[in-house]
Amino acid sequence: MDSQKNNILEAPFVREMIEVTQNMWRNGWDERNGGNVSYLLAEEEVTHYLDPSQVIRSIPLDFPVQPLANRYFIVTGSGKYFKNVAKDPANTLAIIKVAKDGRSVDLLWGLSDGGKPTSELPSHFMSHIARLDQDNNHRVIIHTHTTHVIAMTFVHDLSPKAFTKTLWQMCTECVVVFPEGVALLPWMVPGTDLIGTETAKQMEKHRLVVWPHHGIFGAGESIDDAFGLIETAEKAAEVYMLVASHQSGIKQTITDQQLIELAEAFEVTPNPNYM
Ligand SMILES: [Zn+2]
Repeated sequence: MDSQKNNILEAPFVREMIEVTQNMWRNGWDERNGGNVSYLLAEEEVTHYLDPSQVIRSIPLDFPVQPLANRYFIVTGSGKYFKNVAKDPANTLAIIKVAKDGRSVDLLWGLSDGGKPTSELPSHFMSHIARLDQDNNHRVIIHTHTTHVIAMTFVHDLSPKAFTKTLWQMCTECVVVFPEGVALLPWMVPGTDLIGTETAKQMEKHRLVVWPHHGIFGAGESIDDAFGLIETAEKAAEVYMLVASHQSGIKQTITDQQLIELAEAFEVTPNPNYM
């Protein structure tokens, strides 16, 4: 490697990956190897630290992602524990560049024990493509096992309209933070191209996609943006799980009229299909 380059462990995007994985693990969302993060990087961010011509190895993709050709990402590794990212980032994270033909990725840094990028790479890459079509500033996809969102998928109606409405009613900020609502998939086997395609389809109109009995996918323009979005939905689900089973039941909630007033005050447009 070029000795003129800066220390990659000091790169802001590596620090952010360490911080967000620690926070999610501490929140109890990412047991064992649960959860994965992918973060689109600008070429100049990467070349400040690494020489892209120094490829450690090429990793084939079984799903082509031509629209992401030549793009750089930092991602979590397959089978790696979020708990361990802070103490061993060079083994648990990877900086990859998508090949020209979109059929493989070049490993530029990380996965020092020979591992692979996250097994949810199809869902991440397809979601990046869907979000970039909607938002030029989009950069981050986070998948995590948010405890209360998962719990809610056992006891609540799984229609996106009903699920969204309940989340909006549980915390005043929710309709402002995700006015487009949340999408939900049917239960599916994770790690497959199919769940990737279905998640990405929902990402065209939402930034949060719930996988029932499993977790959530969130998109954002930064790590903070994606994490904050997931955190807000999870908080609402936690409140719901606290009150829904309460002996005296829910006695009052945020009304439709109040949701409309919130939307007006914060200049957001709640998804008309969910109101
Ligand atoms: Zn998962």
